[in-house]
Amino acid sequence: VSRFDGVTMAPPDPILGVSEAFRADTNAMKLNLGVGAYRTEELQPYVLDVVKKAENLMLERGDNKEYLPIEGLAAFNKATAELLFGADNPVIKQQRVATVQGLSGTGSLRLAAALIERYFPGAKVVISSPTWGNHKNIFNDARVPWSEYRYYDPKTVGLDFEGMISDIKAAPDGSFVLLHGCAHNPTGIDPTPEQWEKIADVIQEKNHIPFFDVAYQGFASGSLDADAASVRLFVARDMEVLIAQSYSKNLGLYAERIGAINVVCSSADAATRVKSQLKRLARPMYSNPPVHGARIVANVVGDPTLFNEWKAEMEMMAGRIKNVRQKLFDSLSAKDKSGKDWSFILKQIGMFSFTGLNKAQSEHMTNKWHVYMTKDGRISLAGLSLAKCEYLADAIIDSFH
Ligand code: PMP
Repeated sequence: VSRFDGVTMAPPDPILGVSEAFRADTNAMKLNLGVGAYRTEELQPYVLDVVKKAENLMLERGDNKEYLPIEGLAAFNKATAELLFGADNPVIKQQRVATVQGLSGTGSLRLAAALIERYFPGAKVVISSPTWGNHKNIFNDARVPWSEYRYYDPKTVGLDFEGMISDIKAAPDGSFVLLHGCAHNPTGIDPTPEQWEKIADVIQEKNHIPFFDVAYQGFASGSLDADAASVRLFVARDMEVLIAQSYSKNLGLYAERIGAINVVCSSADAATRVKSQLKRLARPMYSNPPVHGARIVANVVGDPTLFNEWKAEMEMMAGRIKNVRQKLFDSLSAKDKSGKDWSFILKQIGMFSFTGLNKAQSEHMTNKWHVYMTKDGRISLAGLSLAKCEYLADAIIDSFH
């Protein structure tokens, strides 16, 4: 007998579990479209050149490994807020943003959830249906109640905008509305600029607090500014906004766990107090954040040459994904004789495409075709090469029948 006999077996993670199954498959045609991590056309992981250059600089300078302050590296916090809001945004000059370095996007969301739990007892977070699977885990573990608003319309494989608006309206006044800044995960479907304005209208009317998850800035469109437009639109309306950031995708720093939580407040005084409480929440959880990724970001953003090289590499990554998206669409349209309209694939943006495959069809993709993907029909285009688009198109068409 073990004292841990009462501990039951946890289910595998629906996203990370896909990679485990993929590794166990010996078929040569196997494809891992589960996890959202950028791969080269040869389907190999990619370390950005600017990251290597920044790391070399850090070695040459002999940077030490002393603890960071609880709130993280000052140069990183400055750089990350400026990237998000734009360097000359009044909220930065007026010191109305509380920025704290977090353990990438996930850890930053978790810190914000802890702040909500402590200072907004009973307040609800409303999240899109569907959303990134970990959002629910994060709010559950932080004991923050949540419910869903309509987002995805299976009939059009597009946005259910009317449903979204009416559900946000129906949420209790003062709810937190979780929004994906760009490249909505898992659907790849983003609101248009006009729709963002209407979403902001409703959130303001209802006195809700917008809470952005920005995991793909620069990685979706290739432009850091374009991908931050949604956040900036809300900030320009003088709203108080929460924003979690991640550098996993846009700088390829997945395992470095680098990101930030930003809270835009209506006064500098409120921002100071919020920041002090974020630090207080972080201290007993992990004490202080890791330095390596923070230094990489600070060095890349702080050096005009490296910054431009980063932008070029980001465009390259976003461009490869766009090419794969186009090729997949072309292959599906050419091969499928049913007359189905596949143009929804081209309307989606970012790393993911929602195929519209259901659970049984997604399982068929894996069991027959060795294509590993989440059961919601999401595929990561970052794990696809141009060379494998035709194979994938055959698999998708077969699985729909
Ligand atoms: N939010 C969304 C929507 C994501 O897709 C991801 C990455 N899959 C994250 C947050 C967080 O990732 P990380 O913790 O690696 O920054």
